[in-house]
Amino acid sequence: MPRSAPSSTEERSGDAVRRLPAATGLGTNQDAVRRHNLSTVLRLVHSSGGVSRAQLARATGVNRSTIAALVAELVQLGLVVEESFDQTRQLGRPSLLVEPSRGALALVVNPDLDAVRIGLVSLGGHLVTSVRFATVRPPSAQEVVNIVTAVFAGMRSGLDASTRYIGVGLAIPGLVDAEGTVIDAPHLGWRDEPLSQLLSEALGLPVWAANDAVVGVRAQSLFGEGRGVNDLVYLYGGASGIGGGVVSGGRLVDGANGFAGQLGHTHVKSDGVQCDCGVVGCLEAEVTRRELIDAVGLADDDVESLEEVVLRRLEEPGSEELAAIVDRQVQLLAVALRSVVSLLNPSMILLGGFLRILLLARPTELTEAVHASAIRGPREDVAVALAPRSEEPLLVGAAELAFEAILADPASLHAEAAAQS
Ligand SMILES: [Zn+2]
Repeated sequence: MPRSAPSSTEERSGDAVRRLPAATGLGTNQDAVRRHNLSTVLRLVHSSGGVSRAQLARATGVNRSTIAALVAELVQLGLVVEESFDQTRQLGRPSLLVEPSRGALALVVNPDLDAVRIGLVSLGGHLVTSVRFATVRPPSAQEVVNIVTAVFAGMRSGLDASTRYIGVGLAIPGLVDAEGTVIDAPHLGWRDEPLSQLLSEALGLPVWAANDAVVGVRAQSLFGEGRGVNDLVYLYGGASGIGGGVVSGGRLVDGANGFAGQLGHTHVKSDGVQCDCGVVGCLEAEVTRRELIDAVGLADDDVESLEEVVLRRLEEPGSEELAAIVDRQVQLLAVALRSVVSLLNPSMILLGGFLRILLLARPTELTEAVHASAIRGPREDVAVALAPRSEEPLLVGAAELAFEAILADPASLHAEAAAQS
């Protein structure tokens, strides 16, 4: 990560590095150390949501006057603010909290079968605003560009003119290569779509893209239920199937080509239906949101209420048919999760999107089915838990793609400002 980047930000930071004084080793080293420390402090502020100077000094091992200078530089760059009092501190004078600025935003986009979700996320993983733009059919890449351009213009007009837009992060229900091209998003009918490039040209901002569940696991790991969990698996079920993201040993698993974690294509049924990937019996072909929507007769524009409707109907008399569908989906999901447990030995599996319904409806059955046949070692401690209800993790995770270059080298913004003036 970031998964992809025709990245003007990286080029900018590269330029900035080349502009460092080449003379004595001392000056260069001091500058390199300062930039490294800026990055460390900004990452701490970003992941914590707010931290005192004293805590920063303790966490970095840097003295307090150096921390003060680093924080002042980050304030000047518009990336952090110092304002609220630390209410938890009982004794002594109150300490200022260093918090992520709400004026440095990433634009985030999640195209799906039936809608394009667009949001603005500030440093600290805070979703400032989001819009679900419903579409009557899967949008083309060019339609996504048109929708995003129009919605972003509307969002901008409502925000302070001084707001800084760091870049764009895309959460794609499919495979994305290192250049940000969508190699394959079968449910959208996309192949080799240069969405990142089209969007970058339309908006004049750098664009990064990655698989939706991969960015989802990143958000869960940084800000969500999986915070501090070193071995975490996230499965997200949406209109376009089931995606997966894996954190192992505290690191995102991305594989040789960045395509690791395709847990929707875990084999769960030998005589199953054909998946869009061409193989028979994949998890996402057998366990579908569509089957649940049809079972409760929900209109497509009421999909947001699917969770309540299914859970309520299961309690009502005459729900045997729906119960049988849920039971079947639970058992097939458990088959996939047993493979996941055996392969990866996670301590937590988070279920998001419509997969939450299966855990909410059959918590004991699902957990027991996962524990029942998984080999003895890995099964014992794994917790199967709910990811947040909304698509927020996908949007917040997509913003991480856009923030990464700034988090790695906040001082690169000096070069950007100089270039613009
Ligand atoms: Zn498949």
